[in-house]
Amino acid sequence: MSDVTVKQFAEIVGIPADKLLSQLKEAGIEAESEDSTITDDEKTALLAFLRASHGKGDDTSDSAPKKITLKRKTHSEIKLSSSSGQRGARTVNVEVRKKRTYVKRSSIIDEERKRLEEEALKIKEEQEQQQAAEQAKKEHEEKLKAEKEAAEKARLEAEKEAAKKVETEAAEEIVQAQEPEVVAAEESEVEIKPVAEGKREKPKKVAKAEPELDEKQKIAALEAEMSASESKEGGRKEDKKPKKGAKKHRTHESEDYYEEESPSSKKKGKKKTVGDDKGRGAKGKGKGKQGPITSTLTQEFAKPTAPVVKNVVIPETISVAELAKKLSIKAGEVIKEMMKMGTMATINQVLDQETAGLVVEEMGHNYTFSSANAIEEDILRDAHIDGEEVPRPPVVTVMGHVDHGKTSLLDYIRSSRVTSGEAGGITQHIGAYHVETEKGVISFIDTPGHAAFTAMRSRGASVTDIVILVVAADDGVMPQTVEAIQHAKAAGVPIIVAVNKIDKPEAQPDKVKQELSGYEIIPEDWGGENMFVNVSAKTGDGISDLLDAILLQSEIMELTAKKNVPAAGVVLEASLDKGRGPVATILIQHGDLAKGDIVLSGKEFGRVRSLLDEDGKPTNNVGPSMPAVILGLSGVPNAGDDVMVLKDEKKAREIALFRQGKYRDTKLAQQKAAKLDQFFSQMGEGEKATLNVFIKSDVQGSAEALQESLIKLSNDEVTVNVVAANVGGINESDVHLAIASQAILIGFNVRADATGRRLIESEDVDVRYYSVIYDVIDDVRKALSGMLSPEMKEQIIGLAEVRDVFRSSAIGAIAGCLVIEGNVKRSNPIRVLRDNVVIYEGELESLRRFKDDVNEVKAGTECGIGVRNYNDVKVGDQIECFENYEVAREI
Ligand code: GDP
Ligand code: MG
Repeated sequence: MSDVTVKQFAEIVGIPADKLLSQLKEAGIEAESEDSTITDDEKTALLAFLRASHGKGDDTSDSAPKKITLKRKTHSEIKLSSSSGQRGARTVNVEVRKKRTYVKRSSIIDEERKRLEEEALKIKEEQEQQQAAEQAKKEHEEKLKAEKEAAEKARLEAEKEAAKKVETEAAEEIVQAQEPEVVAAEESEVEIKPVAEGKREKPKKVAKAEPELDEKQKIAALEAEMSASESKEGGRKEDKKPKKGAKKHRTHESEDYYEEESPSSKKKGKKKTVGDDKGRGAKGKGKGKQGPITSTLTQEFAKPTAPVVKNVVIPETISVAELAKKLSIKAGEVIKEMMKMGTMATINQVLDQETAGLVVEEMGHNYTFSSANAIEEDILRDAHIDGEEVPRPPVVTVMGHVDHGKTSLLDYIRSSRVTSGEAGGITQHIGAYHVETEKGVISFIDTPGHAAFTAMRSRGASVTDIVILVVAADDGVMPQTVEAIQHAKAAGVPIIVAVNKIDKPEAQPDKVKQELSGYEIIPEDWGGENMFVNVSAKTGDGISDLLDAILLQSEIMELTAKKNVPAAGVVLEASLDKGRGPVATILIQHGDLAKGDIVLSGKEFGRVRSLLDEDGKPTNNVGPSMPAVILGLSGVPNAGDDVMVLKDEKKAREIALFRQGKYRDTKLAQQKAAKLDQFFSQMGEGEKATLNVFIKSDVQGSAEALQESLIKLSNDEVTVNVVAANVGGINESDVHLAIASQAILIGFNVRADATGRRLIESEDVDVRYYSVIYDVIDDVRKALSGMLSPEMKEQIIGLAEVRDVFRSSAIGAIAGCLVIEGNVKRSNPIRVLRDNVVIYEGELESLRRFKDDVNEVKAGTECGIGVRNYNDVKVGDQIECFENYEVAREI
């Protein structure tokens, strides 16, 4: 530090200059007058003298104050230029108050020693008997360290002493004199930190070293260590703090450091102080220093990062695996969580929204429920663009009683109206076509029976604009005529009556008019709304009148379609072609469908790989009210499914998969399986009930026949809705579908497989096995009218599995069987099942246990079964034994 005059020094120290002069004199320092300068050395000499004169030697005597607090106030002025610049500069007085507390090192050491002694004693007791070898090693290390530290200590002693043992006045002097070292001096507080840390680590080391290590030596070492840290402080501090990433704190620190002590910071300092208070004094401590230290410590013990809280969107159903995926955790964790909640779940289990919500909540995440159609609606919203409305041809469906000439009529119109060159197109019959007349174009949908009509309507697709009700003039109104009227009326579609077979001599068209008027189908010439046209599908009479009538009707209806919008339509029928894959016949309703478009249809999606017109010829564009065949879908859609063009294949896929999921997620919570015999009683008063039926059949033919017949059972109170009619044995997913769609399951010549049976049992699904179509229709009809007896007509009493087949020329094939369920009785009728499909129905020729003929074989036992007149039994087949009940008929 620069030399100062005696006068200046006296001012700094705060004593009169003459007193200082006399003190200097006493100390033997030459200082003639107030203006003579004194050097740093002289100051030190004065200090030494003063210490000596106050009875404080170089050694740390107890009489020295343990702690010294220095206060300093500085005043300065800051000139601020006013922002407006009009009133010139403003002067602000700034008063900076600094307060620093210096704690006598020796007192810290004393504390530390005391503490160490106590602790060491304790640990010593605890560890005395163990770790002899380790002790030796530690001891060695400790000794080395101690030596080193001791050496260092000696070197740094003087320096340290300067900061340590000072008299209030002299201290200030020194601080002043050594301005650049202020930081170092202050750091003597910072150094508390090593002490604090030392506390954490030291005991172990010390404890281990304890037995041999001299207490004094140890303290010396500690002291040395501390001073070492002190000496390095300047540089270290600079290094350390940024490393801790406490830039903010650092700024804060530097402010706090020199700023006046506020009560709050004091408190903070105290509260967070890590050492013991005794050593560092309770009051007026350098809070500024402690602040940063504490914050450094706090950072070291920073709380773990907060768990990531996710927001999960839960659809109406979600599988455990999917939920886990959404939470980015393993499915096992979800299962574990559910176990904690008292539910045993499997990875593939489908959870309902609420359960999933609970699980998510339990795991500390947030959730939102999404409605099943939210995603769809979201994406589809874009697809529905308002376009210019342009007139379009009418779409006509022909309905009527069987054999009244629907097919004949359509064929006639088609063959007479399509150009000769396209005649071959008839073979490519696709179930829909359009005809062009002089007056306009008409599209006909030729779907078998009312099935498609109803199926489409139940899906909300109203394709048909006009219904042609075909009534044979020689037959009159028949049951399906009435049904057709009901369907058409329910759909709100105008009816044009084609009184057919007018060529027949026994034709009575007026009788038809009369009969129909009983069903509110009133001819125009009788003052009603319905057009009646007499036609003959055989001769072609009146056909053009019929077409005119259709066009007239459509004109009244002012049918329009949207132009220049992404194409939309509906599936009329679809099938899986061996060579071409899924083939769908669709009817375009809006826009133009082009080859290469990306379409979404029901649960399927794809790019239109091939676009064919109604004659099966490739085409590039199909417009509204026109049928088309598309290839390239991912699967076979259902009749009545929407078809729409989307811009984005990814979105199409997304919706399709979502819909598939909806279809698959069948195990909706607590869904009750439908019961045929309770159907009537569960029917709501006044409202139209729907009986859902799911048909599984041995062959496609019977599936279709059944579907058609059952749908025909619909009346004004009840609609029979065939959810699906498929071929093959009943498997687990079929049962799921039946549960989900609340359908009764009809197995026509097919049975459920083992897993299916288990599910049927556990979910109490109404599964009915039949082998006669009439029986199915009869049962369903009775159920609709509340007549169905709750008892089954037929009950399967036993099931045996063929394990081996023995053949002999004398008695034919004998099946070596194991009865797996119930009993097999000799006298009861049996069926042979292969892959859960009935392949033979008959009776038993023989039933044996070893060599004996028996009448009954119970589950779990083996037997030999000979089927009468059937020798084609194979290993793996099942033989089902059933019983017929006579059920009392209800009136
Ligand atoms: P659908 O069951 O309603 O489709 O009736 P079809 O078109 O199969 O016709 C049933 C039977 O009636 C066939 O043998 C046709 O030849 C006959 N048929 C249909 N229309 C007429 C007609 O206008 N006149 C006569 N004489 N027979 C007809
Ligand atoms: Mg027909």
